[in-house]
Amino acid sequence: MSRPKTYDAVVVGSGPNGLAAAIELSRNGRRVAVLEGRSTIGGGTRSAEITLPGFVHDLGSAIHPLGYASPFFRSLPLEDHGLQWIHPSAPLAHPLDDGTAVVLERSVGATAAALGPDAAAYRRLMEPISADAGRIADFFVGRPSFLRHPLALASSGMWSLRAARTLAESLFDGERARGLFAGNAAHSFLPLDQSPSAMFGLLLGTLGHAFGWPFPKGGSQALADALASYLASLGGEIYTDAAVHSVEDVPRTRTVLFDVTPHQLLDIAGRHFTEGYNSALKRYRYGPGVFKADFALDGPVPWEAEDCKRAGTVHLGGTLDEVAAGEGAVSRGEHPERPFILLAQQSLFDPTRVPEGRHTVWAYCHVPNGSTFDMTERIEAQIERFAPGFRDLVLAKSVAGTVELERWNPNLVGGDINGGYMDLRQLFTRPMPRTNPYSTPAAGLYICSSSTPPGGGVHGMCGYLAARAALRYLQ
Ligand SMILES: Cc1cc2nc3c(=O)[nH]c(=O)nc-3n(C[C@H](O)[C@H](O)[C@H](O)COP(=O)(O)OP(=O)(O)OC[C@H]3O[C@@H](n4cnc5c(N)ncnc54)[C@H](O)[C@@H]3O)c2cc1C
Repeated sequence: MSRPKTYDAVVVGSGPNGLAAAIELSRNGRRVAVLEGRSTIGGGTRSAEITLPGFVHDLGSAIHPLGYASPFFRSLPLEDHGLQWIHPSAPLAHPLDDGTAVVLERSVGATAAALGPDAAAYRRLMEPISADAGRIADFFVGRPSFLRHPLALASSGMWSLRAARTLAESLFDGERARGLFAGNAAHSFLPLDQSPSAMFGLLLGTLGHAFGWPFPKGGSQALADALASYLASLGGEIYTDAAVHSVEDVPRTRTVLFDVTPHQLLDIAGRHFTEGYNSALKRYRYGPGVFKADFALDGPVPWEAEDCKRAGTVHLGGTLDEVAAGEGAVSRGEHPERPFILLAQQSLFDPTRVPEGRHTVWAYCHVPNGSTFDMTERIEAQIERFAPGFRDLVLAKSVAGTVELERWNPNLVGGDINGGYMDLRQLFTRPMPRTNPYSTPAAGLYICSSSTPPGGGVHGMCGYLAARAALRYLQ
């Protein structure tokens, strides 16, 4: 491999934030290289045939409301580089034990209409927020800035800072609206009686109404590949199998941006930082992990509730009480008997991922950080509960606990997929309270992963904002 002698910036890690940082630097005329430790690019946004030939599974992220709404990704010509978004008929279904499902439709009115006694309350909550969606997406997916977005804050901020259970129980009377909200809030990895879990319920609902919950045709890898292809068109370089163990492994450059989490940053670059910064990196808190299961199926999932067949994502967990009990157990270090499951069935809307007539299912549940417990049986039982006959369709499966996930991607510390716990203390001030959270005490060294604002998810905003900070330094 022959590398030019010097770069303006080297990005360590090719996750969506690493690639976003490299693109922003390159499109501002900087000479950039990305060093990826693994043999494939994309970090948490990779796909592969891990069950049977011809079945493409998303190994990390599957559903991309944040990626589709991301102000940075929207500014890039990714469609010219092969990205095609697929919108399922409905973003989300949440089945209940009575054989029906609550559906998050694109329209607030249509969603509300199926919520019985809570129709008016749902409209009152979601209509103003969804009407302000562009600003809201910017507020949540962009760098949170209370001053920049006072209107968005006024319409949604006060609700956001509550616990999901408090919000759902004070606004809704019925199990349908409460369950729907609980499922979205559970994406926070927080117990539902902890603030700001409501923020995630509001954000995901709003994004569903305003943008949909789409996914890339052919697999999430297509998003990483489109970012990489655009980067190459700007002159950026990517090197795989190039793990960086210390700052000295990096070729000559004026800046380094690390798409890694705080404990990794400490190992790689700690000796260039101050004692205070290092002890803050050490104290950084990771959240619960995930247990992941991918299935190759002989046919579509036989959902009892017909409405589930229209949705790209299905939340399995029943009522607010049941979802809250499961998430509460995980936060106490336990493994719930009936875990809350996030399930995606992309092949229903994207036949390019499977042999004709066959299907894939992507699913995960939350587990305590570092857990080694095998949740396969419990995940299958939850799917079977709402789709009797599911097990008979399974041709092959592949499961991964927290240990396997971290081996696959070292940023998944203890199986945490968000680069750190996202409670009030750590959501806006990650990796620690600092005027510019992307900078470090060492001039020219930056952190650009999801361990910086605005946090986890595939949106590239952490990388973009870190690159803006590095560009100011390079001026
Ligand atoms: C199972 C799972 C499901 C998910 N579902 C969704 C979803 O549906 N929607 C969504 O929006 N998000 C989802 N996510 C979260 C999303 O994938 C992450 O938030 C996102 O990928 C974070 O991007 P990043 O660039 O910060 O880090 P990553 O994507 O983790 O990338 C980090 C990269 O850095 C590399 N690296 C680390 N250390 C080094 C080193 N020392 N030297 C060189 N390279 C190094 C890694 O190999 C990796 O490629 C999911 C994640 C997982 C694991």
